[in-house]
Order: sequence, then C-alpha cells, then structure tokens
Amino acid sequence: MVHMDEASVYLWEWAWALVLLLGTYASLGLIHYWTRRGAPCPVLEKAQRVLLLTAHPDDECMFFGPTILGILGRGKSPKRLFLVCLSIGDQEGLGAQRKQELRKSCKVLGIKEEDLYIYQSSRLKDGFEHDWPVDEVASIAERHISQLGVDLVVTFDRYGVSGHPNHQALFYGVAALHLKGKIPKGVEVMCVESVSRLRKYVGPCDSLLSSAVGNHQVVLTPAERKRVLDAMFCHKSQMVWFRRLYLIFSRYTFLNTLSPIHAEALELSLALD
Ligand SMILES: [Zn+2]
Repeated sequence: MVHMDEASVYLWEWAWALVLLLGTYASLGLIHYWTRRGAPCPVLEKAQRVLLLTAHPDDECMFFGPTILGILGRGKSPKRLFLVCLSIGDQEGLGAQRKQELRKSCKVLGIKEEDLYIYQSSRLKDGFEHDWPVDEVASIAERHISQLGVDLVVTFDRYGVSGHPNHQALFYGVAALHLKGKIPKGVEVMCVESVSRLRKYVGPCDSLLSSAVGNHQVVLTPAERKRVLDAMFCHKSQMVWFRRLYLIFSRYTFLNTLSPIHAEALELSLALD
C-alpha cells in the first residue's frame, strides 16, 4: 500500500480544490452565458447614432463584435453605427489589402459603406513601436462626434484589451476630450473593458464573473457570434494560426462589458499614473 507523506496530501487537497473551483466557475459561467445570450443591453438599446473608434482593420471583429451587433443586430428602430478606423494596418505593407478586407467585414456586420471612415496618416502608423499623438487622436474623434451628431462613443479602455499602444492611444485621445469638456452634452462615452489573460481566453465561461464585476454586458447568441466570425474571416491577411485560436477561445467573440468614462474618475486615475 502506498502512503503519501503529509506534504503530498496537502498538495493533492489544494489541487482538487482548484479543479473544483475552476469547474464551478466554468459551469456557472456557461449557464449564465446561455441565459443571457441575446438579452438587451440598455445602454446600447437607447443609443441611436454611435461612433466606434478602432485602431486597425480587424479590431472591429476581434474586440467589438458583441457591441456592434448589440447596436445594429437588435431592436426595431433603425440605428446608425459609424466606424472610424485610425489606420490601415500597414505594419507588414499590406495596408491596401487590409482596407478592402475591412470594407468586406463591415458589410457582414451590417455597417454601411458610407458609415466607414479609414484614416491613413504618417502620424498614426500601425505598430507597437509607434506611439500615436493624443492630440491627433482627440482631434479626429472630436470632428466625428460633432459632424456625425452621435449620442454614444465607444472605444478601447486604457489597457486596450491586448495592451497595444495604438489601442490605448484611442482611450487617451477620448479621455483628453472628456477632461477638456469637449464631449457635447448628451453624448455618452463607453469603453470596452479589458480583462486579465486568464479571463480573456475562457470564452463564454467568463459570463457570470463579467456580469458581476463589469458594468454593461452584451452577450451574443450563437448565430450572432457566427456572424462575427464570418466577418473576421474577411480579414484573410490576418488569419494566422494564433488568431484562429483566439477566435475560438476569446471571450470577446462571445461578450463585451462596457464601462462609462467619468471626468472625475479620469482626473484621479490619470494623476495616479
Ligand atoms: Zn488592433
């Protein structure tokens, strides 16, 4: 008969406790996802004209699919969603192709061709090594907010989901507008929340925790999710193996949680940065 020493017993107990905990987290998350799929998200329901700011072609599918379909795919009243992509994603010299792919992706998602704006600026180059000037981002955002008469602006939060500095620049550009009081009255600004790596790749299992700790949650139905994946497959130049894995496991192809930007909280947190 094999006898385990005290340390081994202790380790086994901890391992089982961890397995049970993760199993419970995943099971409750899946049940929650299934009960919440397709449920209305009030903050998206009430918006009529929405500006979505992204950094690269494919961000709309990789990170904002639930938000886009939560706005355009549901509800009876016709809504407009304007997508402003601040670069052509030319890091590998494929900018022209990536622009075309973005147009196709938008068609699948239901974004009209005339509502898509793609920027190509030497100050906004795609890449981790390129820091985008906050004033340029803020100026583009401000122009579109006023010209398009939107009532909701959606972009990345300060971590930018993947930690990409181009994503983060969008947050800081919009935050700068907010701090300067340049967001018109009645316009709400929401950020898609970043989560830890562990939660990022557990797909729908993160639904319950997201709902508990996140702000506004929007959860896709399986049919809506397929539409996001179809849109992502329009980005043929981006479909390398790790992005395929990302699409399978990422919670961002199942759900988004959105939080509002508040000027007071911004001042405090930027001061602490
Ligand atoms: Zn990106």
